[in-house]
Parts: sequence; C-alpha cells; structure tokens
Amino acid sequence: MDADSGRTPRDPYEGEAGIQKETGRGEDARDVFRCQACGAAYPAAGTTWRCRCGSPLEWAGREPSFSLEAIRTRPADLWRYAEALPSVPAWARVSLGEGMTPLVEERRGGRSFLLKLDHLMPTGSFKDRGSAVMVSLLRAWGIDAVVEDSSGNAAASLAAYAARAGIDCRILVPESASPAKLVQAQAAGARVVRVPGDRQATARAAEREAVGRYYASHVWNPLFMEGTQTAAFEIWEQLEGRVPAAVVTPVGNGSLLLGLARGFQALRRARVASQVPTLIGVQAKGCAPLARAFARGDERPAPLEPGDQGRTVAEGIAVARPARGTQILRAVRESGGTFLEVDDDGIWQAAEWLARRGCFVEPTGAAAVAGLFQWRAVAGAAWEEGPVVLMVTGSGLKQADAWRGRMGA
Ligand SMILES: [Zn+2]
Repeated sequence: MDADSGRTPRDPYEGEAGIQKETGRGEDARDVFRCQACGAAYPAAGTTWRCRCGSPLEWAGREPSFSLEAIRTRPADLWRYAEALPSVPAWARVSLGEGMTPLVEERRGGRSFLLKLDHLMPTGSFKDRGSAVMVSLLRAWGIDAVVEDSSGNAAASLAAYAARAGIDCRILVPESASPAKLVQAQAAGARVVRVPGDRQATARAAEREAVGRYYASHVWNPLFMEGTQTAAFEIWEQLEGRVPAAVVTPVGNGSLLLGLARGFQALRRARVASQVPTLIGVQAKGCAPLARAFARGDERPAPLEPGDQGRTVAEGIAVARPARGTQILRAVRESGGTFLEVDDDGIWQAAEWLARRGCFVEPTGAAAVAGLFQWRAVAGAAWEEGPVVLMVTGSGLKQADAWRGRMGA
C-alpha cells in the first residue's frame, strides 16, 4: 500500500512555515512529525503516520538538556529526563514506574560486561519505554482511541498503558498469532481482532483502520522512539555520566536500537557525552534482512528468500521487512558498529546461560548475549575502550511454553 492510498492528506503544516501553526490539539509548536528524507512536516496529533514520499517520520524534537544533579532528585521513572522528552503536562503523564532497570555486571571468558535488564519493565519488555511516552502524549492531546498491529510485546505494553490512560485500544493480529502472547493485551481490556492472511495483511488492515483511529504503531509512530531513547539516558546516568564503548541489542523493527542511537546522540548534542557508543545489532539467522544488507554494504534491508521469513525461536525480532530499515542501517554505520547473525541454538544457549544467573528471559531477549559470545572473538579492541552493555529485552514468562519445550518438561 502506498503512503497515501486510502486517505487524502490535508497538510497545511508542510514545510518550515507550517511548523509555526497551531496543530489544533497539540499545544506545543514542536508537536510535529518531520520526514528526514524530504523535509515535509505533519501535525503529530493528526492521522498522518507516514510521509507522502513513503518514508517514516521523526519527532521534530527539542534541544535536549541533562543535569545529573537535578535528575537524581526525581522519581525513578522516565520523566526524570523531562528536558529531553516531548513536553507532556504532569496531569497527562501515564506511568507504571517504568524505567531505571538494573545494570548488572557479568563475566564470561575473563571479560566483564554489563546487562541492562529491560525484561523487568512493568509489562515484561523494553516496549514500556515507548508506550509510556507515546500514550502520555496521546492523553495530553485528548486522543481516546488507538489501533496497533502487533502480536507480541508491543501489544501487551500498549494495551496496559492505554488501559491506564482510559484510551480504547484495538489490536490487529494475524490469524496465526499464538494466543499465549495475546492474553496479556486482552486481560488489559484491549480488543484483539484476527486478520486473515499473513503479517503483511495485518499491517495493511491496520493502515486502513488508521484513517479513522490514531495509529499508535510501535514501528511507525515517532513518539515510540522518543520513549525508547531513555534506555540510553539511564545507561549514561548509571555509569555516572559516562557512555559505554559499545551497546549490543537485538534488532527486528529496530525500535530499541533507533532509540538508543537517538538517545546517545541527544547526550552528545547536550555536551554531556563526547561520543556515541558503537552499536551492535543482533539478528536471528532465520530472519536477518538487516544483517545481510549490512554485510553487502546496502542501504536498504535485503529481501529474504521465500521460506526464510521468520523461522526462528526469537519471534520478537522475526521481522522480514523492517519499515525503518534504512534508518537502522545508517545508525549502525554512523556509530562504527556492525550486525551479527545468531542461530537458534546460540540464542537458546545464551537464554540458558542468563537463566542460570537469575535472569529468566524469552529467546529474543537473549539475542544480544548470544551475539556477544560470538562478537567477543572478533572485536577484542572494543573491550579496552570501556564498558560494553548488552540489552536484555523481554521476560521469559512471555514464552513459557517455548521454555517448557526446550527443557522437555
Ligand atoms: Zn518525505
């Protein structure tokens, strides 16, 4: 589906001059989504979620600032970084106390590294960072109904925050989606609608619904990435105002990797960090369009072989066509980083290794650790430059059945 089919963009906000106009709902002139490819701008509270040129949009942003001293006096949720987030009045903030997840040290093979335990977020995944910020803005703008297409952690997270905000939530999923992953969203009161066909058919259905309902997509909506960048802020704060040498993270749609890149860039722009860490993206061998494109030097995700789409136990990163693929590849290149491919065996070994150290994660959540075990052998130099952080992204309770199968129980 093209960017504009199914809707007529009325866009009085396009271009520089448009930024000055009232959006009608947002009270801040920066409540604008901007296209990085062609420069067009759209009101963030409107129904446009993709540029008419087809590219993803980004929050127009603000000049971030950080004061460790001030931040440390505030409650341990995402809003302690309010000067670097879209502005939301205090009454509209929707919070479950998300954030400030532990950063713990581990060792293996004589090397030490840090695990960022985002599987301990309120709904069991890092997605709460994105949902908390996005839903807070929607509440501030008076949006009372949203649609999202996800059959995993994003659905569970959005449903929880929407419930807390009193926003009606509709989740579209492929008919083949496993019921276990949907229980959490349904329990929060979201209406789950099964769409015949594959994942792409569900995405198209969501795009059609997004004409009348706000599309709170964890992939397309730029507000989501504004939230995930807080992972970078926390790591910086937990390292006493330093940034690590490298951050390793699982990548499917890239909402965490892009948030990390954006967050570390914000820290550098605010002059509280001198560099952006090397970003290492980890993909599953069964579904690695970004890792393959990166290896070839391509700017866009590589098309996958038929039958090679999503065949991995790491279902959270089994994304055949990442919408923000070009952005993700650019962010990793600009950081001097790379991509790694890990197979399911490696992912399970990493998950078991984590579980034996007290961290019960779903297979996707162990992908960074699996990547590290592989990367360690080839990237000795990075270890000398400073700490290496591994993102641990989703709770093992999300895929207890897969664990049961693995253990033969
Ligand atoms: Zn554009």
